[in-house]
Amino acid sequence: MEFSIVAQTLDILEKTSSKIQQAAALALLFKKTPSNVIDKVVYIIQGTLWPDWKGLPELGIAEKGVQKAISMALGVSEAEVERVYKSLGDYGLAVERLKLGKQNKSVGLVGFIKSAKGEVYKKLTVDEVYSQLVKIAMLQGEGSRDMKLRLLSSLLAVADPKEAKYIVRFIEGRLRLGVGEATIMDGLASAFGAPRDLIERAYNIYPDLGAIAKLLAEKGVVELKNIKPTPGIPLRPMLAERASDPTEILNKAGIPALAEFKYDGERAQIHKKGDRIWIFSRRLEEITNQYPDVVEMALKRIKAEEAIVEGEIIAIDPETGEFRPFQELMHRKRKKDIHEALKEYPVVVRLFDCLYVDGIDMTLKILPERREMLRKIIDESEEFKLAEGMIVNNTAELETFFLKAVEAGCEGLVVKSLGRDSVYQAGVRGWLWIKYKRDYKSEMTDTVDLVVVGAFHGRGKRAGTYGALLLAAYDPESDTFKTVCKVGTGFTDEELAELPKKLEPYRLPHKHHRVDSDIEADVWFEPAVVMEVTGAELTLSPLHTCCRGMVKQGVGISIRFPRFVRWRPDKSPKEITTTKEILEMYYRQLRKVSQTTTGVGEE
Ligand code: ATP
Repeated sequence: MEFSIVAQTLDILEKTSSKIQQAAALALLFKKTPSNVIDKVVYIIQGTLWPDWKGLPELGIAEKGVQKAISMALGVSEAEVERVYKSLGDYGLAVERLKLGKQNKSVGLVGFIKSAKGEVYKKLTVDEVYSQLVKIAMLQGEGSRDMKLRLLSSLLAVADPKEAKYIVRFIEGRLRLGVGEATIMDGLASAFGAPRDLIERAYNIYPDLGAIAKLLAEKGVVELKNIKPTPGIPLRPMLAERASDPTEILNKAGIPALAEFKYDGERAQIHKKGDRIWIFSRRLEEITNQYPDVVEMALKRIKAEEAIVEGEIIAIDPETGEFRPFQELMHRKRKKDIHEALKEYPVVVRLFDCLYVDGIDMTLKILPERREMLRKIIDESEEFKLAEGMIVNNTAELETFFLKAVEAGCEGLVVKSLGRDSVYQAGVRGWLWIKYKRDYKSEMTDTVDLVVVGAFHGRGKRAGTYGALLLAAYDPESDTFKTVCKVGTGFTDEELAELPKKLEPYRLPHKHHRVDSDIEADVWFEPAVVMEVTGAELTLSPLHTCCRGMVKQGVGISIRFPRFVRWRPDKSPKEITTTKEILEMYYRQLRKVSQTTTGVGEE
């Protein structure tokens, strides 16, 4: 299949923001695509070479490298490439413009056919482009940078202008713009006449859209139904809604409900197949190597031959056995010597779910059955056992258990429905699980997780570091990050001093294309570093773009007196608090205030 067909679709996708039109364009493309390359086409559209959880290397070419490769491919100076880039603001457009401009001139590399117009190109296939990109990604180690640039420039030399534009955007990680997984699933559903919810379920338990597309194209919808959780392939985790009022919690969860300690550790999906163990993080990254002690526990304590269980890995104090906060796990990760780390930062595991056991897809079973199975297959020990839980029937029981959890060093509770619909909803944040967290002594009922997108230089005592950071929430609809607040308090002196170093790898010469901000920061960053923030309350703000126009025209929502709580390296920028969640928190806060002032509130 010719790569130009994919490039044409990318062109259409770029020109429309209508999800319906985008899905239609994708459906058309998928219908035309031979089944042996459809996985590659899907990955290219996703802007990736493989699912992130495979842990395979990334392309590893930075902006300057792209500039050099374009210059080598086209035989123009780097200064010229930079000039065109600066006038167009995008290397993709720059390479396209330069290539179009060269149509009547000869190009730098020899050995290819010249078109009638003098342009040198070759009909590239999807396979060629994909495998060349894989080669680039796989080159590692000394001298690999030059080889990578050479491979990229030879690809750009033979690509036509439009193809070159999208290859460059792919390299820069700018392709994803606007087309999310949801739209790709819409396109697949329409191309293969497959029920959309079936594709979504398959994706949640087997998060590889390329593989799903291939299965659909080769075997049809029937096979899709047979997708099961598979040891070695992470499932997208089920997530909890939040609430702060015990009555509301039990109304939503139903009575009786299961209240469980909410441990403050790292979520772990533990997979077992014979004597092989994998551990995946909440972001679906493989973290097996970081926890040889947990691997040992799992091998010894999981009695089933094959299983997927979920739990929290928590650091404990080796002297007292008490839980230590989440940050301790991060210290452990930073230690170079793993054996020393194991001794200094021992961990325990508390299991709360069971997704697969010896051929049985447990995600379709209700929670009481999953808990029962978990109990059956785990040979419990002090370090590897089920999460502390209690069946609660009223708010008084819930409150008492909550205090017990906090006393034990937990963040609060996760209250879970035991009802007839209490299946494991992979990839869904819903009311079947509700988190009830300890108040951080602020009026905001919960903390939020935001990503750093910019910074302001510090003055006086803070000269040399940043005075404040510009933070944003994620809007999945537009795939952009919208600013919510500037945070400058809550950091220790040490954290403050380290800010520039911590953020340097993400520094950009301009605002990131996915950041929506009216505020001009002194320094811009790629949205990468996530932090947890608390504050006095959510307020309307004319300065910030989060939820702009949703409560009041031209006005957004911001956090008053925001304060840094901690870094969240376990969260990716797309997993942070969404603008929709902030809007819901704002309305909930309004309701609370109005109840309090009319005397019916709980405070
Ligand atoms: P938070 O920022 O509050 O930790 P989150 O966004 O990381 O939440 P949520 O789904 O909102 O994720 O909260 C549930 C998280 O709580 C899980 O991801 C898991 O790591 C942790 N957790 C601790 N104990 C439990 C438990 N008993 N059941 C489910 N999740 C638990």
